[in-house]
Amino acid sequence: MRRGIFGGSFDPVHQGHLIVASAAADALGLDRVHFVPAHVQPFKAARQHASPADRVAMLRAALSHDERFVLDTREIDREGVSYTVDTLRAFTAEFPDDALSLLIGADAARDFPEWREASAIAQLADVVVLTRPGEQIPRDGPPGRVLRVPAVDVSATQVRERVRRGDPIEHLVPAAVARYIESHRLYRTGD
Ligand code: ATP
Repeated sequence: MRRGIFGGSFDPVHQGHLIVASAAADALGLDRVHFVPAHVQPFKAARQHASPADRVAMLRAALSHDERFVLDTREIDREGVSYTVDTLRAFTAEFPDDALSLLIGADAARDFPEWREASAIAQLADVVVLTRPGEQIPRDGPPGRVLRVPAVDVSATQVRERVRRGDPIEHLVPAAVARYIESHRLYRTGD
């Protein structure tokens, strides 16, 4: 089986994540895309907004439309700071016969040289950098390939800011996620 691994804060998950993951699955022939919400993202440690439980609940609601999409909570279950190298080692142990592709958006790829055991990561998985509007493909990013995916100019930051201002988000996130944000009163303040 071919598996994609797509990590992030998903704070909240939005259409950009879903569209590029689906395009990557099509282009790479992935049978599964595992969405792996970080417990604490090393580069965003002081910038978490919704709780891990809320981020997981929103992902669960968002992933039901594509049967290749799987929610994977191993980083949340592990607690502490989430390192991709640990996650990839766990996937390799669990699925020794499967090919793993690590999907990274162009902005996240910029930090790649600083990721813990970056060279080990590149040995454990094929690293695939996904294009993202407004983001250059970094020259000193991960080894591996660049995949051109549909340009969806949506970010979680934009979704949170719109909620805080009381602007509609229904075109940016799946309906179930918009309902969850509303009913749990998420992102109403700037914390
Ligand atoms: P924030 O605005 O809070 O920084 P984000 O929208 O970048 O969040 P993350 O959860 O941090 O969302 O992203 C998870 C992964 O998805 C990262 O690799 C990121 O680069 C990628 N990604 C997010 N949105 C897009 C998009 N619109 N197009 C391509 N890649 C994306």
